Amino acid sequence: MSALDGARARLRAARRVAVLTGAGVSKESGIPTFREAQTGLWARFRPEELASPQAFARDPQLVWAWYAWRYALCAAARPNRAHQLLSALEARLGEGFTLATQNVDGLHARAGSTRLLELHGNLGRARCERCGERQNLPAPEAFEPPPLCQRCGAAMRPDVVWFGEMLPEAALKQAQAAFQRAEVALVVGTSGVVYPAAGLAGLAREAGAFLIEINPEPTPLSPLAQLSLRQDAGEALEALLKGEEGGSVADR
Ligand code: NAD
Ligand code: ZN
Repeated sequence: MSALDGARARLRAARRVAVLTGAGVSKESGIPTFREAQTGLWARFRPEELASPQAFARDPQLVWAWYAWRYALCAAARPNRAHQLLSALEARLGEGFTLATQNVDGLHARAGSTRLLELHGNLGRARCERCGERQNLPAPEAFEPPPLCQRCGAAMRPDVVWFGEMLPEAALKQAQAAFQRAEVALVVGTSGVVYPAAGLAGLAREAGAFLIEINPEPTPLSPLAQLSLRQDAGEALEALLKGEEGGSVADR
């Protein structure tokens, strides 16, 4: 039996599966990853100089303009085969399935995933630092930053986790528990350098899970994985899950 067949058999037999995704999963939807050079207007900024509390304190309009641009890009994008296959896997496994994502693009939810933990927030939402209120942004055409809090009137910030900030504690705990329980863990399209999300792979391995990585490039997580598929996310998930999907899942 090939390593791929072995992994397929384990996935078919598993009742508890945990998945971690990163920017690579959305690349085939046309959303650039962080490590790729920024294009156009934003080429002269590094993401680290925009996605931080310091950057926002220094120049909130600049940071909001960057998020508004990314929000419009994501709103115009569509979930791809990888998002759909993960949603189909959830439909089969139900409560045994957990999807933790570092992505802020909202594409997993639009593909129908509900057992979803957005560890780094969502760029379609704003948060009020004064009163804690969260609000969805209006449609990109109608959006003019900064959004004002409907509860207290303060200018809001993007509801994402910036460099140097803590992850939402409840979501992180749930993700850690799911990776510790999982029989099979999948790590898809993440460079594996941003902690604590990257630590989920190690937790799963320590607890005895079979770890599969999907990434065209080797990462610091590769030595931990029993199988590394050096392919695009959609293609690799197709190979792993072929024949076990239910109906196709529509873009919502
Ligand atoms: P990353 O940009 O650091 O790494 C992306 C990884 O995806 C790389 O290892 C790359 O080799 C791999 N990759 C590239 N194309 C792929 C493909 N077609 N299929 C599978 N893998 C592919 O992203 P990260 O690991 O998610 O972490 C960095 C941070 O970037 C996160 O905090 C995240 O919030 C943020 N981010 C999110 C988005 C998004 O929401 N789509 C986009 C850019 C950055
Ligand atoms: Zn408020």
